[in-house]
Parts: sequence; structure tokens; C-alpha cells
Amino acid sequence: MPPGGGPRGSQFMTDEEKQQAPRVTKALLMRVFSYLKPYWKQLLLVLVCLVASSAFSILPSVLTGKIIDEGLIGRDLKKLVYFIVLSLGVTLASNLIGVGQSYINTWIAQHITFDMRNNMFRHLQKMSQHFFTSNNQGDIITRMTSDIDGVERVVTGTFASILSNSITLVIAIIAMFQKNWLLALIGIAVTPLFVIPTRRAGKTRWMLTREAQECNDEINGILNETLSVSGQLLVKLFGKEQEEQERYEAVNRRMIRLHIRESMAGRWFFVVLHTFTSIGPMLLYFVGGLLIMKYNSSLTVGDITVLVALLGRLYGPVNSLLNVQVDWIRSMALFTRIFEYMDLPVEIQNAPDAITPKSASGNVTFSHVGFSYDKERQILKDIDFDLKSGQSIAIVGPSGSGKSTIINLIPRLYDVDSGAVLFDGIDVRKLDLGFLRKQVGVVSQETYLFNGSIRDNLRYARANATEAEMIEACKKANIYDFIAAQELGLDTLVGNRGLKLSGGEKQRISIARVLLKDPALLIFDEATSALDSISESKIQDAIDPIVKSRTSILIAHRLSTILAADEILVLKDGAIVERGRHQDLVELGGVYTELYNTQFKRIEEG
Ligand code: ATP
Repeated sequence: MPPGGGPRGSQFMTDEEKQQAPRVTKALLMRVFSYLKPYWKQLLLVLVCLVASSAFSILPSVLTGKIIDEGLIGRDLKKLVYFIVLSLGVTLASNLIGVGQSYINTWIAQHITFDMRNNMFRHLQKMSQHFFTSNNQGDIITRMTSDIDGVERVVTGTFASILSNSITLVIAIIAMFQKNWLLALIGIAVTPLFVIPTRRAGKTRWMLTREAQECNDEINGILNETLSVSGQLLVKLFGKEQEEQERYEAVNRRMIRLHIRESMAGRWFFVVLHTFTSIGPMLLYFVGGLLIMKYNSSLTVGDITVLVALLGRLYGPVNSLLNVQVDWIRSMALFTRIFEYMDLPVEIQNAPDAITPKSASGNVTFSHVGFSYDKERQILKDIDFDLKSGQSIAIVGPSGSGKSTIINLIPRLYDVDSGAVLFDGIDVRKLDLGFLRKQVGVVSQETYLFNGSIRDNLRYARANATEAEMIEACKKANIYDFIAAQELGLDTLVGNRGLKLSGGEKQRISIARVLLKDPALLIFDEATSALDSISESKIQDAIDPIVKSRTSILIAHRLSTILAADEILVLKDGAIVERGRHQDLVELGGVYTELYNTQFKRIEEG
């Protein structure tokens, strides 16, 4: 079966597919081949099985001639039984070989997709944050799943069917010519009579199916829109019931017509098919009869029967092989799509001579850093600051001013466009990535917990953390009381993405997680979303002592966090516009004063 389902999986290509047909280059073929190469022994075995099972599947048709001529007409019971048993044995053997061949084929396909999946996953893991933010998650997952599943179908379906059909066809034609060249030629000449109408009818059905599918999508759209809670509310409040009913009925009616036409196209198809398939054998009987009766040919009744049987064996493979081009283009498009992903350049990777220092103290220097996500809109402009080990910096500024962007540059989620970010005096681009990311711990605004227990989530930071270490981290993060109150303690399940926990609990668990990681530099992106004042103060109680005792950068929205920091950077439109201590900044009467009056003060008072 060709890759893809529905109309895409049909023997006809959509206009879109035709336009997007990939260029099949030698490099592409070599690359596909490189995935097959490790399994060449198994592939050879498949080939042997294919030849054997195709040959064996043709043999019973040839033996029919012997059964008729030598057994029935020759009235020889022994021979009759012998050829019948032989014919049955050969059929059985052919099918048994077919089973073995399917097994090996599936085995190869599974191993190839296993290799591809792993390669792809390895590659995707190396992709930068930029890739994940600018690509649709659904697309990424589709390439990992359906596209690679498609490869399996190409190997077990397309490749295998091209081979087995070609072999069957060649053997059947040779066998026909051996019996009688004239009848063989006639048989081959009438084959298009069967194949062409089959394709015509197929195309009509395919087009109707596609139209029906579009119609179905439209129906689903209407149902989703009108039968949802808010949709119904809108319909009711605007009195649109009648209009919606008419809209629905109209599409429904179109659907009925399409279905009727589709099923009738099927009926016509069979009428045409049966008529044409019987023309070939009749011609062979007729010409064969003429040869025997009028021209004294040595042809026997058995020979003619064999030729008719072999003719029947031609139709299937010829029809399939006519689709080969479509299958081939689709398969190549599939490989091209997969390779496209595998070839995406890894934007952020270790320098060849990356440095791995023995220890880290957590100093961070931004030296005239300029950055943009899309190389068009400048997000950070000339950011310049120094964070000494043991100190803390609070970054404040209006939403969208570039606060999160600054911290993204430290663990190299993105690379700067100009200037440099230094960690312990070394440009982060020269540091070993693994080392750098180990030294930087981030508690982001959007806490991500894996579906599992609290313990699993904590151990994600350090797999060998002891019970005592976990408890200590939880205590520091001010979440231990909550955990201890749970029936299952650390084994409490957090639910999908941590949804069974409140926002504040999740955040405190993620603080505990980062404490277990014990990095040289801690970064907190304080949540802007409103938490109730109890959760808020619990988080605050957790963060404040940490800030005072560790090298840290905080994106702060709350006064107490800001007050705990040694220096405040005020960001506006991607530039540091003010910096200093709280009191001085308030007195300055600038951006900070405004933020203080509109945001921090209100939150504190609230
Ligand atoms: P907030 O306080 O709302 O979290 P922020 O100060 O942290 O905001 P950033 O998240 O750093 O702001 O965003 C700075 C600018 O960069 C914004 O204008 C935003 O639209 C843009 N931006 C952020 N992430 C991306 C991205 N992945 N691709 C393109 N632009 C981005």
C-alpha cells in the first residue's frame, strides 16, 4: 500500500502533490539506500523469497495444463492425482514463503524506522529554542510519527510490491511465450483493455471520495460551531436557528448526492471490469481453437487453459506497476520531508574547542549585547551589566521590554547578535554547553512538571538525590509541609503537566527542583500571573533567603523580591534605562518610579 491514507493513499495524485513532487537526485537515493544498507543480508533474503514465492504462485496455473491434458484427457488417474497434489503443495509452499517474506520485510522496515526515529529525535533534541518557538508542535510530532510510519509502509508496501509484481509479471510472460507466442502476444495486447477502464473508474471514484471528504469537513465544521456551548448561545441570542438549519441541510443534501454517485460509480466499475476481463480469455479460446481446428497446431486444451490462467495473472501486477510512479513520487516526497528535518542546521552547538572549567562561581557579564529573534526587530540593545558571584540582580521593566530574553541568552537558548555574554569571564559560546547549562538553574514563569510523582520530578534535576536531600530542598522551597500533608508524600502524582497542583505549588516544586540541581547561578522568572496572597508569600519566603545567599538574577514583579536584590536593572524597549538601588531609583522620577507607582506599590498594598 502506498503511504498515507484516504485520497492521499490513492493511486492518483492531487494537484498539490504533483506540484510538490520532489526532485529525485542521486544524493537522495543514496541517502535512502544508506538506511537500507545495514540490512542488506535480510534484503537479499527477501529478494530470494520474492522470486521463489512469485515463481511458485505461477506454477499451479501451469500445472493446470498438465492436469487437463495428461490427467483428464489422457485418462491417467495416477498422473491426475500427482499433479493435483503437486499443485496444492506448490500453492502451500508459495504461501509459506510469503509468510516468511512478510516477517523479514516487516522486521527490516521496523529496524529502518527505528534507526530513523532515533536519528530524528537525536537531531531534534539538538535544535535551538528558536526552532521550537517558530515551528508548529503538531508539525514536529507529525514528522516524528506519521512521516516515519510512512517509511515503514514504503518498505513493506511500495518497495516489496514493485519487486514482487515485476517478478510475477516477468515469470508469467515467459511462461506464456513458452506455451505459444501468438496467444501470448494477443493476451498482452488485450491487457490495456482491462487496465485503462479500471483506472478511469478508479479516478472517478477517487474524485468523488475527495469531494465527499471536503463535504464531511464542512459538516463537522458546522456541527462544531453551532453545537458548542458558546456557539449555541450565539445562535440563540441572535435567533439564527432557522438559518443554521438551512445551512446544515444544504450541505447534508450535497453529501447524499455525492454518496449516491460514489456508490453508483462503484457499480459501473464492476460492470466494465467484468466485461473487459472476459474479453481476453474469450479471444484466447477463440484464436486457440482456430489454431487447433484450422491450422493443425500442436496446441492442447491444457495449453489454452494455462494461457488463460496466466493472462488472469497479468492484470493485477500491470495495474499495480502503472501506479508505481505515483507511489515512487510519494515515497520520495516522504523521504525528502524527513531528511529536510534531519538537515536543519543545529544553530546552537558546542564549539570544537569548547572549554570545560573545573569549577564555577556564577559570575555573569553582559558586554554590549545586541539581540533579535528574527534578525529584523532589535529586541535587546547594548545590554551591559556585571553580576558578581554571591550577588543578585533584579531586572524590572514593562511587559515585552526584553527581560526573559536577557535570561535566555545566559544558558545559550539563543546566541547574541553582537557583544558577548560571559560566564566566569569566558564567552558562553566558548564554554562546553553541558557544563554551562549545568551551572545555570532557571525557574521559569511557566513551570513545567512531567507527568509522574513529585519525586520523579525532583530527581529530574539530580537522578541520585537522596531522600534527605530532596526533603531539604523541599523545605527550602517552602513546599515540604504541603508534601508531608499528602497521603503519598513525595510519591504524590502531579498529573499531566502538573495540572493536579496549584500554580503556587508547582512553582515551589520547581524551586525545590532547581535547588537540587544546585547550580552556580540561579535565575527566577517571577510569575506575573496573580497568585493568592498566601501562595505568594510562601513563594516569597522561599525565594528571599535563596536570593540573599546565592548568585542570582531575578525577573521581578514584586517589591519584596526587588528589595532583596543588590542591584536593579530597569529595562525599557530592550535597553537598560536606569540602574541602582530601590531608594535611588524611586527618587529619580523615571521609568522605575512609574513602575513602582503603578505596579509594585499596588501589588504590595493589595
Ligand atoms: P513579560 O514581562 O511580559 O514576560 P519580557 O520583558 O520578559 O515580557 P520578552 O519575553 O523578553 O519580554 O520579549 C521581548 C520581545 O521579544 C517581545 O516583543 C516579544 O514579542 C519578542 N519575543 C519573545 N520571544 C520571541 C520569539 N521566540 N520569537 C520572536 N519574538 C519573540
